[in-house]
Amino acid sequence: MRIGAVEAGGTKFVCGVGNEEGVIEDRISFPTGMPETTLPQVIEYFKDKQVEAIGIGSFGPLGVDKNSPNYGHVTTTPKPGWNGYDFLGAMKAAYDVPFGWDTDVNAAAYGEAIWGAAKGMNSCVYYTVGTGIGVGVYSQGRLVHGLVHPEGGHVLTRRHPNDSYVGFCPYHNDCLEGMAAGPAIEKRWQIKGSDIPKDHAAWEMEAFYLAQSISNTLLVISPEKIVLGGGVMKQEQLFPLIRAEVRKNLNGYVSAKELLDGLDDYIVAPGLGDNAGLAGSLALGLAALRNQEV
Ligand code: ADP
Ligand code: ZN
Repeated sequence: MRIGAVEAGGTKFVCGVGNEEGVIEDRISFPTGMPETTLPQVIEYFKDKQVEAIGIGSFGPLGVDKNSPNYGHVTTTPKPGWNGYDFLGAMKAAYDVPFGWDTDVNAAAYGEAIWGAAKGMNSCVYYTVGTGIGVGVYSQGRLVHGLVHPEGGHVLTRRHPNDSYVGFCPYHNDCLEGMAAGPAIEKRWQIKGSDIPKDHAAWEMEAFYLAQSISNTLLVISPEKIVLGGGVMKQEQLFPLIRAEVRKNLNGYVSAKELLDGLDDYIVAPGLGDNAGLAGSLALGLAALRNQEV
């Protein structure tokens, strides 16, 4: 079985082909340009691939309601050329195959639930902490959509007592993304995140912000697993710091053994590693081929 996958990011696109086990057999990557130059590259890639379905996990916000005229569109992004762009429509015009379509982070959450750290579970939440922060939510065996789709990167935060940084979110300044995405770390400390020493106070502060959101997510969604990916989470020392903060925030209130003495297995890195996004898109394509609603 050959399934196509598109991981459409704000900075780069990754296209690939994989099988029903989530094994990616081929891939290419190119920078995200205007849709008129980027989509032809995607379409060209699949030309000789004979895929039976294609799954797309895209940067957003997106139209994800099948009954809405904006289904398949990128909606209110400030990214030049993409606002209102009918991404799925352009793909469907080129290929007559079933398509899966969701946000990049919902795709990653789904991939993790099918093949990764949350394999076999009915729920998980996926965070990407990179240029921005995105949160994908898989609950009761379905990806969560509603009025639109979750936008958990922009939840409000309580400021760290030693933090005078204003935050960089153009909408909210000091929301989670504004305080804890890669650019916030770099602007606050005036050093690139990847160059900050592992024992620097930056990481304790980073964990403070991420743990607030994770604690709230845990209290609202009660997922069976929380998966943290993206460039910033390459700083592995963040995991124990985050777990300790979450433990402190919950203060023993939620009585689940996973939280009381199993946090090391509950808040984890992606089981699919750097493939989480692309494999998630592949999983969406596979579900579309099987006519499975996710
Ligand atoms: P994107 O979010 O654009 O898809 P990434 O997930 O790689 O890409 O995130 C890029 C952001 O993560 C940048 O702000 C970068 O500074 C930060 N970042 C990348 N790698 C690391 C690292 N090893 N340690 C800390 N920060 C990192
Ligand atoms: Zn925000």
